[in-house]
Amino acid sequence: MHIYWFAITELNLETQHMPAPNTPAGAAQDDDLVFADETPAVAPGKGSGAWRVLIVDDDADVHSTTTFALGALEMHGRPLEFLHAYSAAQAMAMLEREHDIAVILLDVVMEQADAGLHLVRHVRDTLGRHDVRIILRTGQPGYAPEMDAIRGYDINDYRTKSELTRTKLYTSVAAAIRAYQQIHALEDSRTGLAEVVRANSELMAMHSVGEMTLGILREVAALAGQPADGLLCACPPGAAAGWQVLASCGASAALARDGMLPASTQGPAAAIALALAGRRNVYEDDHLALYFSGKAHCDFAAWVRLARPLDALRRGLIDVFTSSIAVGLDNVALMTDLHRAAFYDALTGLPNRTRLVELIDDSLQTRADATLCLVDIDQFAETNDALGHQFGDALLGAVAQRLRLRLDAGLALARIGGDIFCLLGQADLIEPAAVQDLFAAPFSIEGQDVQVSATLGLVRLLEHDGSAADALKDADIALKRAKSQRRGGHFYFSRGMGVEIRERVRLMHALRGGFARGELFLAYQPQVELAARRTFGAEALLRWRTEDGRFVPPDRFIPIAEYSGLIIDIGAWVLREACAELVRVRAAGHVDFTMSINVSQVQFRHPHFIDMLRQALADTGAPPERVELEITESMAMEEPDLLIERLAEIKRTGVSIAIDDFGTGFSSLSYLQRLRVDRLKIDRAFVTEITDAARGSSIAEMVIELGRNLGLSIIAEGVEDERQAQILQTLGCPLAQGYLFARPLAPEALIEWLGNDALTRAA
Ligand code: C2E
Ligand code: MG
Ligand code: MG
Repeated sequence: MHIYWFAITELNLETQHMPAPNTPAGAAQDDDLVFADETPAVAPGKGSGAWRVLIVDDDADVHSTTTFALGALEMHGRPLEFLHAYSAAQAMAMLEREHDIAVILLDVVMEQADAGLHLVRHVRDTLGRHDVRIILRTGQPGYAPEMDAIRGYDINDYRTKSELTRTKLYTSVAAAIRAYQQIHALEDSRTGLAEVVRANSELMAMHSVGEMTLGILREVAALAGQPADGLLCACPPGAAAGWQVLASCGASAALARDGMLPASTQGPAAAIALALAGRRNVYEDDHLALYFSGKAHCDFAAWVRLARPLDALRRGLIDVFTSSIAVGLDNVALMTDLHRAAFYDALTGLPNRTRLVELIDDSLQTRADATLCLVDIDQFAETNDALGHQFGDALLGAVAQRLRLRLDAGLALARIGGDIFCLLGQADLIEPAAVQDLFAAPFSIEGQDVQVSATLGLVRLLEHDGSAADALKDADIALKRAKSQRRGGHFYFSRGMGVEIRERVRLMHALRGGFARGELFLAYQPQVELAARRTFGAEALLRWRTEDGRFVPPDRFIPIAEYSGLIIDIGAWVLREACAELVRVRAAGHVDFTMSINVSQVQFRHPHFIDMLRQALADTGAPPERVELEITESMAMEEPDLLIERLAEIKRTGVSIAIDDFGTGFSSLSYLQRLRVDRLKIDRAFVTEITDAARGSSIAEMVIELGRNLGLSIIAEGVEDERQAQILQTLGCPLAQGYLFARPLAPEALIEWLGNDALTRAA
């Protein structure tokens, strides 16, 4: 078949008037056609990014003139590559093999008059190739295909060869390539959008911000068609120092410092700031900054490194993706906020007590050789009061920051109370001195240097055999012990400490219950005149017989009652009970009997103590002048002004006062005078030693002398044998109390005792 391509002559003519190389030519200008160097392009290999054009024509001349005419054409930086087929059959075979063909320049009439159209049908229907653009060329206008065929088979152009000047050929091929590109872009965007939708629903199903944010970074990378390399931050309003990095991947992970992307006027931080300020995505050639609008909370932003610039399609897809995923991110952030509030401390962002207990639990399960270390800031309350809460908060923040930066990264750090931090981790990483050294340098708060120290309480978890909560309690016990000894010190918990303290707590509960159940009662130990051996009174002594019949000594439970505050109620009951007993004793005929009642320091300091005393006297009808209160000497030495005041008040009720355990303290003579007490009780320890002591130098002797000089009554307690009684009497001590005369007696026994005493005397 002969084809006449008249255009060739014209083309040749035109070529002579072509503009300079690399200059857009005529109509081609509008089509973004750029002429590459007129020298024939090196045939680009497959996959080099060239637009592939298949020329199907049975006339070899047409092949050469076409390649000559189009050889220098470049579109969007990509040259053309030509494939040649000289028959429809050859073209078909080629199309089976070659896939990325953009344009087919197809001769209509070849082997048969309709060979070209046949090929078109084959391409579209059989091969299902809808993207490839087809330009039909024919030498004979009479062979023009039906318009229906042109439409039905998606043919781009149909020209007689005579029409196709070089410029028109350019234009036609360029338009076909552009169409091919758009078809592919649409296809890409269709699959891209499908990808966005899929990614969206997958990411929405994630429940942790960490998972989701990493997923977002990977998805952005997939949409960009590039390796994942970036970071995603939470950007709450007013975060001046930088943003918390929620996820990072690739080399960008190294941009985070302690989980933060520090604010900066350049680099990723600056790009993120730009995206946040503009509330939009910012695309640059080598990076992009994405903005995710957080609805109720803070906004989010991502920075992604690009290996090459993104085309409009990819940008568009990423825009769609970021705006649609922001909602999900916000929801997950809300959940995370709730999670955070439950497990993290709002001020420092550190795990809180709840979270720490979980971490301790993990440690206990693995039987790791771990140490738990409470770090208590010394005198924090004072700093807080003196300089304000804001300052205190800033100090805590600074402490948290320093601990986080300077401690081994393998250690868990938590804040479990006002000024108490906690470290948990491998035992050999927690060295008390090293932890305390972290406080050596002052903290700079609001431009001021603040020097604080810390006291530590530690527990070795390997030795611990209770729950995580118990381990924390143990650490607290160790901390209290450390604090009681020296600020800035440390103490390791030992099993003994725990047993002791837990026993005390147990006892406290038991005492509370026991008191309520009436397990407490009073015993009365007679007090006698040494000369006549006559009972003139008794000391009321508190007893506790527990449910199982065991006696708990008062030396053991009274300190616990004091510590727990229970002593106020118990003491009030003792006062009333002893007064009631006094009334009963008097009713039994012993009217000159005096009741001595012990008063604890805690009770004595209570603002309503005097009221309680008056009430007890009034309720029972006990005569105040027959009641004596015993206060210990150590108590008499504290807060003298308050004591003097209080004693004066007591004396106005008519009740008298004895100083118990006298000789164990260091009361001065003048002070004793000011106290205006009535009696001194020589402590049992000095009574015990007088038998051995040389006469004239014993403490008992000095106390007796002192009492005599001050005009005070003297009684010796703990007299166990006759010799002691004799010596005391000789030394001038008229009164005594002790096992020699009587043990503490039950109420009925006391009255019986007094009766016998009177009988003996009468006999
Ligand atoms: P205290 O007031 O110095 O009581 C004297 C203690 O010495 C009593 O011990 C008594 O039983 C004991 N005692 C008496 N004679 C002898 C003796 O010849 N030899 C020996 N070895 N001990 C003797 P108790 O009853 O165990 O009381 C101990 C402490 O408990 C009392 O010391 C007192 O400080 C406190 N206490 C007892 N009852 C009460 C109370 O009702 N209220 C308050 N606040 N404290 C009380
Ligand atoms: Mg006493
Ligand atoms: Mg005593």
